[in-house]
Amino acid sequence: MTDPKDIPESEWRERLTPEQYHVLREAGTERAFTGQYDKHFEEGSYACAGCGTVLFESDAKYNSGCGWPAFTRVAEDQPGERVEERRDMSHGMIRTEVLCAKCGGHLGHVFPDGPPEDGGMRYCINSLSLDFDGKD
Ligand code: FE
Repeated sequence: MTDPKDIPESEWRERLTPEQYHVLREAGTERAFTGQYDKHFEEGSYACAGCGTVLFESDAKYNSGCGWPAFTRVAEDQPGERVEERRDMSHGMIRTEVLCAKCGGHLGHVFPDGPPEDGGMRYCINSLSLDFDGKD
């Protein structure tokens, strides 16, 4: 199987919808309060919409009110196993970008303003970067 990091941009354009491509491959951001998983609280897993790697579990999801799906932690045993973090200086802000560690797709940003009782982090993730798989 091809390493998802070797997939050429031309193939990503074919695999993804234009909206997903803009977010995952061009670090775009969906408009606040428009994503399908913003107010979605079913039990299950959220995988990368690019490569299918499971990134977040529903038990880490909470309603932050920010307009995008928010999670307190990544579904990984080792830091960097599923998600990579990188300093992002775009748009006149200093933020920490969150990317899929397997395919390099842009997911969103992480901020240190999450629920203190759950570690204090808020992974603010675009719905367009995620595919939900519910538990039956
Ligand atoms: Fe991925």
